Amino acid sequence: MNGKREMTGWKDKILFTPGPLTTSRTVKQAMLQDLGSRDFEFIEAIAQIRRDLLTLGEVADAGYEAILMQGSGTFGIEAVFSTVTPPDGKWLCIINGAYGRRMNYIAGVLGIETTVLTYPENHKPNLQEINDTLAQDPAITHVAVVHCETTTGIINQVEEIGEIVRRNGRVYFVDAMSSFGAIPLNLAEAKIDFLVSSANKCIEGVPGFSFALARRDALLAADGYARSVSLDLLAQWRGLEANGQFRFTPPTHALLAFAQALNELMMEGGVKSRNGRYRQNYQTLVAGMRKMGFVEYLNPEDQGPIITSFRYLDHPNFTFQRFYEALNKHDFVIYPGKVSNADCFRIGHIGRIFPPDVKSLLAAIADVLIEMGIT
Ligand SMILES: *Cc1c(COP(=O)(O)O)cnc(C)c1O
Repeated sequence: MNGKREMTGWKDKILFTPGPLTTSRTVKQAMLQDLGSRDFEFIEAIAQIRRDLLTLGEVADAGYEAILMQGSGTFGIEAVFSTVTPPDGKWLCIINGAYGRRMNYIAGVLGIETTVLTYPENHKPNLQEINDTLAQDPAITHVAVVHCETTTGIINQVEEIGEIVRRNGRVYFVDAMSSFGAIPLNLAEAKIDFLVSSANKCIEGVPGFSFALARRDALLAADGYARSVSLDLLAQWRGLEANGQFRFTPPTHALLAFAQALNELMMEGGVKSRNGRYRQNYQTLVAGMRKMGFVEYLNPEDQGPIITSFRYLDHPNFTFQRFYEALNKHDFVIYPGKVSNADCFRIGHIGRIFPPDVKSLLAAIADVLIEMGIT
């Protein structure tokens, strides 16, 4: 079912992480080709990727553009902030985890003024407070929120916040890094002006680039604001439109892998089907973890199908380091926690993994708890 069992002499660990993720053998094989960046086949692959991304965002003919940008997901976020903020612009950053804090940090380094609304990491943002903040501070031009805050796995109310932002006449940015492709979202209906995600999360490609979906008019309105050459989103879009190419060396192999990953997403049945598989992974995981005494950090009604934070076991023999290393020896990779006020670790349920893989992980965890003298 995944690479480890398909290829002899090639033993990958299974990644239960927030990315990079376990990818299919066919996605990896798509990289076994050296294409020149001006090759016709490569330019056509880029064009198809851009069309497919608009389709995934349900805005194929709705005045949106897809722009690919070299670098990891954070580069894409920094590209939006540095490209679209006017000299006197001010962002409202809505924060309930590490990735919300990172957006505010990016703005600060760029010398962009911000204000923040910060919530506990196990709480969704307060919609009334967002509305009041926008009403009371006319200097705010842009609003940023994370869709799935990967710190915990919580799903924030991007549609409701979009309604408030549009009603107040501001520009709306969503970090959908860990949700795009796995949680259905119509960008136009959610009133999103800019959204960023990356190649190696729910679309199940390999790392190497991020992408932005932008409402064309909002993008064009940014003319002249760029604070960076390499991260200039508008210039990148103009380059792609002019000759179909990246301005600077593209990650050719990662793009070929991504084209294959998009095909596999369509073959699986699109975003809804992928959501269904991830949800099954999640349900299999929490059912098994609860049986072994683990408790989730979030209330189940706030929890999405992407990643789950579990509290450390309350047992003198439990240390995360030992737990992690023992699972690694069994060829399963989990992830440390990122919650600031509780001892947690995380298990991702995204990537080319299926409920039987989750069951194998659960069996390994049961073994490890015995090895650690816990059960
Ligand atoms: C993974 C992630 C990022 C950062 O992506 P990098 O590729 O590590 O730069 C940003 N925001 C969210 C919500 C993420 O899950």
